[in-house]
Amino acid sequence: MARPALIVHGGAGAVPESERAGRQAAVERARDAGWATMGAGALAAAVAAVRHMEDEPLLNAGIGACLTTDGVCELDAGVMVGDSLRVGAAACLRDVRHPIDLAVAVMEDGRHVLLVADGASRFASEHGLEMADPSIFITDRKRQQLLEGADTVGAVARDADGHLAVAVSTGGRTGKLPGRVGDSPIAGAGFYADDRFGALCGTGLGEAFIRLGLARLAVVELQHGMDPAAVAQGAIDLLGTAMHAPGGVILIGREGSPRAAFNTPAMPWALAQ
Ligand code: ASP
Repeated sequence: MARPALIVHGGAGAVPESERAGRQAAVERARDAGWATMGAGALAAAVAAVRHMEDEPLLNAGIGACLTTDGVCELDAGVMVGDSLRVGAAACLRDVRHPIDLAVAVMEDGRHVLLVADGASRFASEHGLEMADPSIFITDRKRQQLLEGADTVGAVARDADGHLAVAVSTGGRTGKLPGRVGDSPIAGAGFYADDRFGALCGTGLGEAFIRLGLARLAVVELQHGMDPAAVAQGAIDLLGTAMHAPGGVILIGREGSPRAAFNTPAMPWALAQ
């Protein structure tokens, strides 16, 4: 019997001071939504937390996501379970109401790990997922244009059976080129889960996470017996020293308490255990 744990983050991006309390409250609501679902297992808990955050307009995922240079939202999401190393992800979505639902559907389908753009939308509608007019993601265009860098939302969970899961969803980076894909839907870069060692989710400059293969690297360090708190901090130190990049991570090991680390002024996060 393992000790259940959940950690949730709302992104390490630069946001106005005035939004910090609201973002923290949004993350705590997501933590509560995820924790309430823990009885259904780690995957259900992580997905419930992220799905909630896709509806929180102050967070950069789903409703309220940042804009591309064309002024639209292109959304990415990913999910991974640590018992079987199954992954599902989707990127460049403009009309899928809950990108995290599509990531789960891709994983459950099992043929592929990542679908993008029109093919991903077609898969979503064929699988009965809720579709949306692209305009619904744009809430306050001015705010979304002003977001510097951006954010991601993510959750990592461990259930009573010791299974680990990670879920992540993002609008990417403000002013990104149309078609740009960051680390968040890339297993091994923005997220990774392996029941034997631990699970991790990142936020920050996706290009740097991809170049470092950072999520997988952190799990390899857990495999080599490093302490989870040191692994989380080490990942952020590497991001800063090797890439001069901003970011944060949340992490849960096979046992012990969840950990968070970041090198930006703030990253709202919350845990339950
Ligand atoms: N990692 C996300 C991306 O690069 C954005 C972020 O977390 O700031 O798409």
